[in-house]
Amino acid sequence: KIRIGVLALQGDVREHVRALAVAGAEPAEVRGPEELAAVDGLVLPGGESTTIGRLLRIFGLLEPLRAAVGDGLPVYGSCAGMILLARDVLDGRPDQPLIGGLDMVVRRNAFGRQVDSFEADLDVVGVDGPPMHAVFIRAPWVEKSGDGVAVLARVGEHPVAVRQGHLLATSFHPELTGDTRMHELFVEMVRQRGRA
Ligand code: GLN
Repeated sequence: KIRIGVLALQGDVREHVRALAVAGAEPAEVRGPEELAAVDGLVLPGGESTTIGRLLRIFGLLEPLRAAVGDGLPVYGSCAGMILLARDVLDGRPDQPLIGGLDMVVRRNAFGRQVDSFEADLDVVGVDGPPMHAVFIRAPWVEKSGDGVAVLARVGEHPVAVRQGHLLATSFHPELTGDTRMHELFVEMVRQRGRA
């Protein structure tokens, strides 16, 4: 079985662990460099990107994660996880640590206070069947991205799901809806890399 880690420093770790198990992977919580070295792919959960970034530094995971992303480790970030994969963040906290890897700039809490949370049905490129029911909670959007970044879904003109090679990110939280198609897509990305 494909072993996929969930970064377990803060955020909705359990929900991702459950979704990965349903999607056919063997989930594992990752809190340190040794655990990171033992997985074939990694999920960065939703939560608070500033807090997760600071904890990455404290737990000695920031540099190992950057190196792993550089080496081609498949990573899927949802919401706060999307922010962590960006090369830059607008409306972030000063000195908010990022992992980077995805050639995009995101805007934190982009949808604004009036719509702190909302739900939408989205067609996502690469996800077959009916639209995905997407839950947004103080979500970022992609403000700009490089040519190598494929936009998989938008809300209005704003990209909310993107992929660049081995890196996948969504502004929304598929782990909260019981629809595991996004996790299945990621499990397949990890499988493909294992074969390459
Ligand atoms: N607003 C959070 C942040 O900036 C992300 C919210 C979420 O992950 N649900 O990190």
